[in-house]
Amino acid sequence: MNQNLFSALRAGFPADLDSIAIETADDAALRYSWRDLDRGTAMLANLLGSLDLPAGSRVAVQTEKSVEALMLYLAVLRAGLVYLPLNTAYQRDEIGYFIGNAEPAVVVCAPKNFGWVSRIAFAAGTTHVFTLGDDRSGSLLQRAAVHSDVHAPVVRGADELAAILYTSGTTGRSKGAMLTHGNLLSNAQVLKTYWGWKRGDVLIHALPIFHVHGLFVASHGALLNGSKMIWLNKFEPKTVVAHLPEATVFMGVPTLYTRLLAEPGMTRAACSHMRLFISGSAPLLLETFNLFRERTGHTILERYGMSETAMLTSNPYHAADGERRGGTVGFPLPGVGVRVVDDAGAPCPTGEIGQMQVRGPNVFKGYWRMPEKTAEEFTADGWFKTGDVGRIDERGYVTIVGRSKDLIISGGFNVYPAEIESTLNDMAGVGESAVIGVPHPDFGEAVVAVVVPRPGSTPDAAALIAELKAKIANFKVPKRVFVVAELPRNAMGKVQKNLLRDAHKGLFAA
Ligand code: AMP
Repeated sequence: MNQNLFSALRAGFPADLDSIAIETADDAALRYSWRDLDRGTAMLANLLGSLDLPAGSRVAVQTEKSVEALMLYLAVLRAGLVYLPLNTAYQRDEIGYFIGNAEPAVVVCAPKNFGWVSRIAFAAGTTHVFTLGDDRSGSLLQRAAVHSDVHAPVVRGADELAAILYTSGTTGRSKGAMLTHGNLLSNAQVLKTYWGWKRGDVLIHALPIFHVHGLFVASHGALLNGSKMIWLNKFEPKTVVAHLPEATVFMGVPTLYTRLLAEPGMTRAACSHMRLFISGSAPLLLETFNLFRERTGHTILERYGMSETAMLTSNPYHAADGERRGGTVGFPLPGVGVRVVDDAGAPCPTGEIGQMQVRGPNVFKGYWRMPEKTAEEFTADGWFKTGDVGRIDERGYVTIVGRSKDLIISGGFNVYPAEIESTLNDMAGVGESAVIGVPHPDFGEAVVAVVVPRPGSTPDAAALIAELKAKIANFKVPKRVFVVAELPRNAMGKVQKNLLRDAHKGLFAA
C-alpha cells in the first residue's frame, strides 16, 4: 500500500469536492474548494516531477504564508520529495547555512528575495529556483499552470522522508530533523481521535506554516478530517474574533492567547460556537489559562511536542479521561512513551523532576547528515532525549519545568542563545556575551543579552542591537543588551545564566 502522507490526507477530503476547503480571512475572502486543492497540488507535483530530480531531493521553501504555499507543501509530499520549510524571518547568513547544509535540488523563495537567494542556491548546487508571492505571483505558479491537473501520488514507504525541520541545541548550528511519512501520519491520526475531530469542524488557521505547529498539527488535522479552514496569512486578533462564530477549533501559541485576551470582543458569546482551543509550542502561563476560562468559558487544552517528534503529550479532550490541568501538558498520547530519568539515566520516582525521554512511531529518524549527533541524542534502548526537564505525577500528568538545552521561546519562536552569543562575540568591541530569556507579558519570554566589552572598547547597546537586526531574524534580536564588566561564572568556569535570569527577571514586568 502507498504510505505517502499526501494519499492519507487526500483520503480525508469530503465526497463533495466542490465544497469549500479553505477560505481566506485576511482582506478579500478567497475560497478554495477541495477540488482546487486536489488540482492545484497535482499541477505543482507534475511540475516537480517534470524536473527529473534524484530520489530524496529536498525542496527548500522560504515564502510568506499563503494557501498556495500550503499547496506547495502538499505537492512536495505528493511528488515523493522532501519538504524543507524555512522561517520567513531568516536572513542571508542563515539561509546560506540551511541551503549549504541541506543541498536542496529546488528552492522556492519570495519574488523580492530572488536575487540573493538564487545566488546562494546555485552556488550550493541547487538546479531550480522558483518564486512564490503571497498574492499568487511568481514563477512557480506560472510554470505549474501548463501541467496536467491529474497526478498519481508517488509511492512512498512509511519509513521514507517527508520533511526536514531545522532545529538547534546550545552547541553547534542547527540540525535538520528528518521526519518520515509514517512519523507524520501516525501523529495526525492519533490527534484526530484524541481531540475528537468530527464532521462539521472548522479550524481557524492563524499559525505560520514553517513550523511543526501550523504546518503539521493544524493543517494535517483539518485535512485528514476533511474540515474547512479559515485561513489567516498573518495572525490578527480582531480577524480571529470576527470568525469565531463560524469556527469550532483554534490552535495557537501562548502569545496568541494573550493577544486574543487583549481584545474586548473576546467574550463568552463570541466563543459560543467553538468546540476547542489548543495551545502549545511554549509554556502557557497558568494566569492566561485561568483568565481565558473566566472570560470565554473555554478551558484551553495544552499539548507538548517538538520538531523531532511532532506531538508527544496532550491534556484530555473528553472529560471522562480527566480534567484539563493548567500548567501541565497532559498525558502521553496513545502509542507514545514518556519517561523521566535522572542524570545517570535511571528512572525517577513518580513526581520527581528529571530529563524527559520519549519513544513512539512519531519520533524522527535522526538528524540530517549527523549520525554522531543522532546517536548521542538516543539512549541505548532507543529513547529520544528531548532536552526538556519535567515530571510525571501519580495521575500521569506531565509537567515541563524547564529545558536542559537552554532554549528561549519568544512569541512561540525558538531562540537558541548559543547562536546569538556567537554572532555577538564576532562583533567589534565585544569580548564575550551571555544570552538569556526573561519573562515577558506578551512574548512569554524576551531575549536579553549581557555583553562584556573587549579591553579598551566601549560598545554601545543600541548600536549592537541595530547591527544584530541586520544579521539575524528579528525574533532572535535581544530586546535589551546590557554591557557589564564581567559575567558570573561557577567554579567550573561556566557562565551562571540562572543568576543573570534572576537579575533581569523583572525587566518586562507587566
Ligand atoms: P520546536 O521544536 O520548535 O517545536 O520546540 C520544541 C520545544 O518547545 C520543546 O522541546 C519544549 O521545550 C517546548 N515546548 C513545546 N510545547 C510546550 C509546552 N506546551 N509547554 C512547554 N514547553 C513546550
